Order: sequence, then structure tokens, then C-alpha cells
Amino acid sequence: MSEHHDDDPTAQGSGFAALGLRPELLKALDELGYEEPTPIQRETIPYLMDGKDLLGQAATGTGKTAAFALPALHLIDGRAASKPVALVLVPTRELAMQVSEAFFRYGKDLGAKCVPVYGGQPIYRQLQALDRGVHIVVGTPGRIIDHMGRGSLNLDGIRMVVLDEADEMLDMGFADDIESILEGIPHAHQTVLFSATMPPRINSIAKRYQSDPVRINVVRGDTKASAGKVRQSAYVVQRNHKPAALGRILDIESPGGALVFCRTRTEVDQLTETMNARGYRAEALHGGMDQAQRDRVMGRLRDGTAELLVATDVAARGLDVDTLTHVVNYDVPSAPESYVHRIGRVGRAGRQGVAITLAEPREQRLLQNIERLTKQAITIEKVPSVADLRAAQLEQTVAAIRESLAAEDLDDFYPVLNSLSGDANPQRIALAAIRLFHELAGNIADETEIPDISHRMERRPDGGGAARPGGKPQRSDDRRHSSEKNATGFVYIALGRNAGIRPGDLVGAIANETHLVGREIGPIKITEKFAIVGVPEHSVEKVISALKATTIKGKKPNVRRYTD
Ligand code: AMP
Repeated sequence: MSEHHDDDPTAQGSGFAALGLRPELLKALDELGYEEPTPIQRETIPYLMDGKDLLGQAATGTGKTAAFALPALHLIDGRAASKPVALVLVPTRELAMQVSEAFFRYGKDLGAKCVPVYGGQPIYRQLQALDRGVHIVVGTPGRIIDHMGRGSLNLDGIRMVVLDEADEMLDMGFADDIESILEGIPHAHQTVLFSATMPPRINSIAKRYQSDPVRINVVRGDTKASAGKVRQSAYVVQRNHKPAALGRILDIESPGGALVFCRTRTEVDQLTETMNARGYRAEALHGGMDQAQRDRVMGRLRDGTAELLVATDVAARGLDVDTLTHVVNYDVPSAPESYVHRIGRVGRAGRQGVAITLAEPREQRLLQNIERLTKQAITIEKVPSVADLRAAQLEQTVAAIRESLAAEDLDDFYPVLNSLSGDANPQRIALAAIRLFHELAGNIADETEIPDISHRMERRPDGGGAARPGGKPQRSDDRRHSSEKNATGFVYIALGRNAGIRPGDLVGAIANETHLVGREIGPIKITEKFAIVGVPEHSVEKVISALKATTIKGKKPNVRRYTD
């Protein structure tokens, strides 16, 4: 076992500082517990700070939001909020809120004012917010066009336009709106485009609206990287279920020693606390700790006092512990190379190792990028159910008792058995003893089911599950359900051309209100008075109740299943 401290994590602030960001931004990043820029941030921020146009291929989870948000926030220094300096276009309401929250968090010491504008929210609230003065506007194309039409969005001061998830916006039918918006800003400005894929339509937008853009791609993945003899699995869970899911998975895996990677210092501290509350002996390791604290933690891992080490990448650099059996990615790492680096901590010297990754449904592309780099499959597993957990715990008890049966000093306990033999028969005595052991072994009664959303990972744009080098089906029930999954159901919406409805409005409303993405929605038929939209059959009811609870173009339409 050895530890190297070549990279002093206490000097980590230099990563962002070297990018030339304002001190207020550096302070906010430090408070958020970001220890170093992700590859997309390192590669793009210098160009963006230099005023260049940029065409970046990067998926969700790479840190691309901060890659454009930090340079955009850099532009507002010293300027009172009046006309916006940056405009960010995003495909969905969910993303508009998420991106605008990111602007708020990064820009709080600069007093940055950011307003999200999207369909479905009463427009007067947005009008008031815009009227009070803003630095940054983040919005869906349809709603931005509405505001431009009303004269409530002054674009005279715009210095940077960002198209985030451009491919998704095009899939959702926003191409015309995007072009109208870009043409509505006639003066010189910086145009930044991020997209997970680069179909020709993206390149043609780039050609028309960007000047000599810098091209950045963090999806490079042709170098063969070895992930060794490591069993690799991923679990798809919503963020709020991650702590419970990790506890459940580790209860079943019962690792000898596990290294759990988190993105930020804050996350490391929170997760350490949660895992301790669940009965694990967990220790935190991050760049905010001094050398003495780090050494203490390492000592505890070394002598087995700690069984889980929760760490950031920076803090775990150079850490080499041969008792580790599991590496856990609490989030999908922002770069595939970092995944390979992380899981290289197990499976050494021919030993078996396990790599577990918790992914949110939006992060599927990152998993595919990793599989492309390693040329190895990551199996999508179901989060264990309460029943799975109980079965595994009982199995562990059986194994422990079997081991104890082989011990030679069992006879020492005859006096205990003898004194109990008057109370019950040997079988009942054995059962009582097993129960006692089972409970003392820390097997907690966990009754909460964690929703299984692994099916969301199977709808991959390339038509299958994750890139599977072996070509094996990932889940045995894949094929059984595939015909149901591919069926299209139809939804009738009592709003049509007369109400000004366009395909983009329907796709936008559905994608905003459900977890469907643009390519899952269609065909769409719009008549004067009504519209019919195809959606995956299994989502029809969800779409109907979501649309009933929202407004489209300010109206609450009648919505029902269309069966004719
Ligand atoms: P994004 O790809 O922009 O959706 O970001 C993915 C996640 O990574 C978000 O939760 C961010 O808060 C987080 N994040 C972004 N940059 C960093 C960084 N340099 N260090 C740690 N976490 C980060």
C-alpha cells in the first residue's frame, strides 16, 4: 500500500485561477467545493474569455454548463443589471431552470441577475423580472420569441449567445425559432454552441451564425484504455434516491473496502455523513483537508477501521490501496479518461474488482462515451428491491454460520445450549440464535422501495442499450418488452392551428412536462381545431395527465387518448 502526494490538493484553487476567472467566481466555485476544472471547462473557458465563437461537442454531465456560464458571468462585472449581456437557449423548461440556478450559484458574489423564461409559466411574472433588469436570460426558444415579439426582451446589449443542447432543440422542432432569434441580434456578439451530437444541421447553423469557431470535442474515444479485470455495472437513479440506492447496493455487494468518488467537497461531506448514519464506517477525503487529516484518514482505511472512503478525484490522486475491492462513481465522471483512472484502483495484479456507477437518466451518453473508450460493456442493473436486499442479507448470514460450523471450538458453547434445552427444542434455539446474529450483523430493516428507472437507459439514439462490444443483451427481459416499448399511442389535444399551435409547442410542452425527449415524440398532426401527437404507448397516460395540468399557449386544452 502506498500513497503519493505529488499533487498537493490544497493548491487546487490554481486550476480555476489559471483560467483567468474573476476572484468572485473563484470564491463561489471554492464554496461549492469544485476542486478543479473538468476537461471541457479547461479546454473551452480560455477561448470563451477571449471572445471567440465556439462549437463544443459535450454531453450532460461533462460540466458544460459552467464552461459557458463562467465566461458569461465574467462579462457582467461592474455592470448594473439592465439589458441582458448573455442569452442562453435551452430545449426544455427543466434545463432552463437548472441552467439558471447554475448562473445564480456561480454568480452570487457578482450579484448576477439571471431570469429563466419558458412556456407554461405565467408570462407576467417573467415580464416583471425582465423589467426589473437582468444580466442573463436563459430560455426556451418559443418563449424567447414571444418576448421578442412583445418588446419585453431587449437584445441590444447581448454580447454572448449560447445554444445549449442544440441537437435536442433541433429535434424538438425549434430550428426556425433559433434562426429568428439569432437574426434578431444583428450586432457583433459571441456565439457559443454546445451539442451532444453534431448532425449536419448543427454544422449548417454554425456556418451561418458563427465566425471561425473553435471546435472542441471532449468525446474523443479511440485510444484503447484498459479497464482491467473489473466487473462494471451502472444503476439508473434519480438524484434524490442516490444515497438510499448506494446504501442498498453496498449492503448487497458487501465490499471489503470501497472508494466512493464524488464531484465536490460538499457532496463528499454529505455522503460520508449519510453512509455513517447507515452503519458504514465511512471517512471523507477531499482537498479542503490538511495533510495531517488526510494521513489520519488513510491510516484508518489501512488498518480496516474505515471501510468506505468518500473522496474527490483531486484528493484521491495517487492513492493506491491494495485492500480495495470496489470503486463507486457516485456520479458518472465528467470525462471517460477519469472513469478509467478511477476504476484502475481495483482489479490490480489479477484480482477481481468491481466498479459501480450511479447515473441519472440524462447521463446515458457519458456512459456510452466510456464504453467506447474502454471497449468494454457497462451492465445496466436494477437497483435492488427490498426483497433482494433481504435475500442477500439472509445469504450472508447463512455463509457466516456455515463458516462458524467449521470452527473447532464450538464445544465451548455446550453449557449455553444445555441451559436452554429445557426452554425449547434445538431447532427453535438455533432460530433464535440466528436471528440474534442476523440483527447484530447490522442488517437493518429497509422498507423503502427505490423506483426502478433503468428502462430509461434503454432508449438510446443508436437504437439499443449502451454500446455493447460483446453484443450481449444487457437485461434478460429486454426482448420480452421490446415490442410494447416501441409501440406508439396517440394523444388528442383540443387546440389547433386556429390557436396558433405549432409542432414545436406540442413537443416543447410534452418534453417539459414529462421525461420524454424530442425524438420520442411524433408523428404530429395539426388541424385547424385540434392536434394529435404520437408518444410511446407506455407514456400515453403520463402525457395526458401532465398536459392536463399545464397550459399550452396560455390555454388549458381538453386532452384525451386518441384511439380511432
Ligand atoms: P453539467 O454537465 O453542466 O450538467 O454538470 C454536471 C454536474 O457537474 C453538475 O452537478 C455540476 O454542478 C458539476 N460540476 C461542474 N463542474 C464541476 C467541477 N469543476 N467540479 C465538480 N463538479 C462540477
